[in-house]
Amino acid sequence: MEREERPLILLCNDDGIGAVGLKALAESLSALGEVVVVAPDRERSAAGHSLTLSRPLRASHLSDGWYSVDGTPTDCITLAVMGLLPRRPQLVAAGINHGSKLDDDVSYSGTVSSAIEATLQGIPAFAMSIAGNGEFNFQGAASFARRLAAEILRRGLPRDTLLNVNVPNLPPEAIQGVAITRQGRRVYSETVVRKLDPRGKAYYWIGGADPTWERLGDTDYEAVSNGWISLTPLHLDLTNHRVIDELK
Ligand code: MN
Repeated sequence: MEREERPLILLCNDDGIGAVGLKALAESLSALGEVVVVAPDRERSAAGHSLTLSRPLRASHLSDGWYSVDGTPTDCITLAVMGLLPRRPQLVAAGINHGSKLDDDVSYSGTVSSAIEATLQGIPAFAMSIAGNGEFNFQGAASFARRLAAEILRRGLPRDTLLNVNVPNLPPEAIQGVAITRQGRRVYSETVVRKLDPRGKAYYWIGGADPTWERLGDTDYEAVSNGWISLTPLHLDLTNHRVIDELK
């Protein structure tokens, strides 16, 4: 009898192929199956769900199971599933993103979008991010990623649903547990800085002060800020079903 194939697990992110969080995720998930990484060749944070159609894409085979692509996270998933991988993956894991992907950030995130793209293609997927900015402790996130991946490989996910996971930047023993949450609501404080370049021409830089959040009780933001791992099920259908009747 032939040996049963180990599950194929595809990894992607938006922080780029060199990101420490991606390496931590690859190491952690390699215990569960064959891990193949297909990730952007540079940081593509906030790339959203964009797909490159105006130019060809190139993939570089860097080492065993590691490929970089000169495109977006969504490009990576598309190339991987449609051509680079020897067979269809059983799971797509995105991250571990450097910095949280909470609330409305989800729609900008290339990391979350790569999991969305996998979901669109019918492959179970989760995105994982670590809160904070710099000096990350990936240990807690990496070991939870392995538990979660094993569970998804065993049980699958509901149709058109992906999991958005945010982990507090704490040593594993300081993490409170796992909370099932909903997407939070950000109070926007986005700013655009206008300055002049050395030739006197204006340029603009999108930035923002530290955001604040509405306190709704059961959101991703509140869970993470209280030391819990936040697990939010996201659905691909953006329809606001409650408004359909009203519009009719
Ligand atoms: Mn990122």
